[in-house]
Amino acid sequence: MKKTQLTRRNFILTAASGSLGALATTTQAAKPSGNRAGVIVIPQRKVPVLAEADVIVCGGGTGGISAACCAARHGAKVVLLERWPSLGGMATNALVNIWHTSDRKKQVIFGFAQEAIDCAGEFIRRYAEYPKRPETHWFDPEGMRVVFWRMLRDRGVRVICNVTAIESLIVGDRICAVLVDTKTGRKAVSGKVFIDATGDGDVAANAGLPFEFGREGDGRVQGMTMMFELRGVDAAAVRAAPREQAARVLKMMQELRGQGRFPQFNERHAMHYLRAGGNGLYNMCPATGDPLNEEELTRLSAEARGHVYQYLDLWRREMPGFAKAEVPQMGHGIGIRESRRIRGLKTLDGRMVVKAIKQPDAVGHGFWMIDIHDPKGTGYTTHSDQKAELMPPVGESYHIPLGMCLNAKIPNLAVVGRCASSTHEGLASVRLQSHCMVMGQGVGTCAALALNASVDMAKLDVRKLQAQLRKDGVYLEDVPSDRQ
Ligand SMILES: Cc1cc2nc3c(=O)[nH]c(=O)nc-3n(C[C@H](O)[C@H](O)[C@H](O)COP(=O)(O)OP(=O)(O)OC[C@H]3O[C@@H](n4cnc5c(N)ncnc54)[C@H](O)[C@@H]3O)c2cc1C
Repeated sequence: MKKTQLTRRNFILTAASGSLGALATTTQAAKPSGNRAGVIVIPQRKVPVLAEADVIVCGGGTGGISAACCAARHGAKVVLLERWPSLGGMATNALVNIWHTSDRKKQVIFGFAQEAIDCAGEFIRRYAEYPKRPETHWFDPEGMRVVFWRMLRDRGVRVICNVTAIESLIVGDRICAVLVDTKTGRKAVSGKVFIDATGDGDVAANAGLPFEFGREGDGRVQGMTMMFELRGVDAAAVRAAPREQAARVLKMMQELRGQGRFPQFNERHAMHYLRAGGNGLYNMCPATGDPLNEEELTRLSAEARGHVYQYLDLWRREMPGFAKAEVPQMGHGIGIRESRRIRGLKTLDGRMVVKAIKQPDAVGHGFWMIDIHDPKGTGYTTHSDQKAELMPPVGESYHIPLGMCLNAKIPNLAVVGRCASSTHEGLASVRLQSHCMVMGQGVGTCAALALNASVDMAKLDVRKLQAQLRKDGVYLEDVPSDRQ
């Protein structure tokens, strides 16, 4: 157990055992693997304070950006910490560029997501089918890095990129600081409320909150994907090619893969690109592994990049329209869909999604299907089947509850985004960026209002929070009374 002593300008850490970060007993359902090559005991040392604020948001993906902007809007002094050099998380750094805001009849996600759409200007476009498909907008990931930065800057959020939150410091039952590694050594960032938006739940797990990992049975998480961009495709030639041509190339890919001479690929997406492909982002290069194992991620990302060039090589030779295709960019890292799911006051499950269940502590709506990419990395996804039993009925949506972001152990720590409390199936729906932004807005606003009222987040009158969210543009309908 670490001892943490607070002084005015710095933290004094005493490492009394070799158990780094183990502040409480956790009850993980399945343990992710990791490197265990012994331990080093760190001697007592002073850690300078890099920043302090009311609200510290760790992670600058769509969940964290939304939380930070919304807390700042309500008067909180906010610092956002991000490990990568630029903002956006999966949206920008893994090239995941589609937003979903419609229940297939009407748009039901507004609030911060709509603000981001409005701020994005020419960097975002609405699909012609709006609002009849859940997918409503696509954007330029490069441009969105700038948009996210401007949104945070304009709301007064202090943003520090290139720092990873590596340790959570607990005094009593409260988190008082996180440690980050910088170019000039280890530093502390202290605050009153912490929001873990790391996608992997790093801060919450290190603070000792219990979490789930992977699906029941084998503990595997959803498959990953290396997104890539193709340019130089002659889209007209692709579309003009006889349909048998695409089928022939797909068959060739399947046969080569069967002989062990070609990598895995998402068959449905590959067929789509071979028939209708053009210049843009391609989502068809799957992988499987442990998102918490850096060395494995290094290998998976490198191998996936090689796989993309294998697709390209074959398509250039075999498929009309692709002869001059090039790959200007791939994801900065391989895209990760699922990691730790921090256990909260409430857990969103697949039934709640499909039955469009409403919640008294709702902070917004979600509607996406239970979209599971095969954890074995074959590229197969439940999305391909479009089975009615995997999604809420057309025109209906479920509630995203605040309780999935709060926990029973550390009252000044919340989580948002894909590490919030859900089952493997629940996460398969709520992991969408638009849904993460709903959570971020709910929790960011809750943190600021709770600080203004000098109460913990779970003690804030949820009806006041909901009233504020509606004023801030959130679509929030059919909220049941908590006495029902
Ligand atoms: C290939 C792929 C396709 C997808 N398709 C879609 C789609 O079409 N539409 C859609 O809406 N969603 C899609 N998703 C899901 C969606 O992109 C993610 O679930 C969503 O972006 C998660 O947002 P987040 O903010 O919770 O986490 P992330 O976007 O992962 O952001 C977390 C941020 O925290 C940072 N971070 C991590 N650890 C630390 C730390 N310790 N300290 C500081 N910073 C840290 C990361 O660098 C990152 O910037 C897809 C996902 C993948 C992988």
